[in-house]
Amino acid sequence: MDDVRNLIVIGGGPAGYTAALYAARANLEPLVIEGFNWGGQLMITSDVENYPGYADGVLGPAMMQDFRRQAERFGTTFLTDDVTRVDFSERPFRVWVGDDEYRAETVIVATGATARQLGLESERLLQGRGVSYCATCDAAFFRDKTVVVVGGGDSAMEEASFISRFASKVILVHRRDEFRASPIMVDRARANEKIEFLLNKVVLEVLGEGSVTGVRLHDTVTGEESVVETDGLFVAIGHDPNTALFLDQLDHEPETGYLITRGKSTETNIPGVFAAGDVQDHVYRQAVTAAGSGCAAALDAERWLSEQRHASLSAGLAVS
Ligand code: NAP
Repeated sequence: MDDVRNLIVIGGGPAGYTAALYAARANLEPLVIEGFNWGGQLMITSDVENYPGYADGVLGPAMMQDFRRQAERFGTTFLTDDVTRVDFSERPFRVWVGDDEYRAETVIVATGATARQLGLESERLLQGRGVSYCATCDAAFFRDKTVVVVGGGDSAMEEASFISRFASKVILVHRRDEFRASPIMVDRARANEKIEFLLNKVVLEVLGEGSVTGVRLHDTVTGEESVVETDGLFVAIGHDPNTALFLDQLDHEPETGYLITRGKSTETNIPGVFAAGDVQDHVYRQAVTAAGSGCAAALDAERWLSEQRHASLSAGLAVS
């Protein structure tokens, strides 16, 4: 069937674009369904200073433009829309964007992960107006200000320490009195004079109209409510993989939803479907590791396709 592609890449972040680059250079003519908000988490990141090759740093969105352009140069086709449904039960695999169906012999899932939100209406209203999910992007806006960081994992400790370089005071709010973060990260935050800990507290409401002025807290031990004045709220409570579309078809960690890949490969439980980047990695979560994983997925897909073709050729010869 001539409308069946070699490869569809789902997702337009570092993993997806790198997979497309390698696949395009291998003449697989990939289609990247990159999502309406292509670029992934790098689009809400300002300076990227740890991506090798950019010695002077680069802005996250500019870097993603570069990734995309490089994949395009070798013949990648892009569809700037969201996948709405997939069917991996038989080959060719089927991927839908609304009513439009696309088919391919192989699929690379590279849909990334999204920062978790507290789920408060007041949080939503003040997003970008003092509520942030990315210290690297926004800490510099809080020079000499007071900032609340929510969370008790490594991200919260790291973000609190990072923000303390700018803010005059950082209040770390955590819902328990034990931390998920590694002890060394907690010790480092505790040793930082600018960081204050408020434990056993849950944020009930973000206060302010037009900009953040405070948070209303609930004490889980005493039941008391209190208001803490702050200029900003950084929510650092982890990430969720963007896997809802795939959970009924691809093996995943039951608690987190991260896709499971076999060993060092990018293979999923369905032969011909591969997963790359943050969608299957909650440990490293870096642009450079996602890009490396995208490269591996393209090589895995290419190898798998040639094995299939070799097998059908051999079968054909055996019959004739
Ligand atoms: P995480 O380890 O899952 O921690 C999330 C934290 O947020 C937990 O303390 C959790 O509280 C809290 N939380 C979750 N939902 C909440 C809610 N609705 N309201 C209030 N609090 C909530 O996530 P992470 O810190 O992003 O780390 C993810 C992974 O990346 C980990 O493996 C971590 O080690 C790694 N990481 C490493 C570094 C580093 O080493 N430099 C830096 C960042 C991340 P509970 O504890 O009560 O569940």
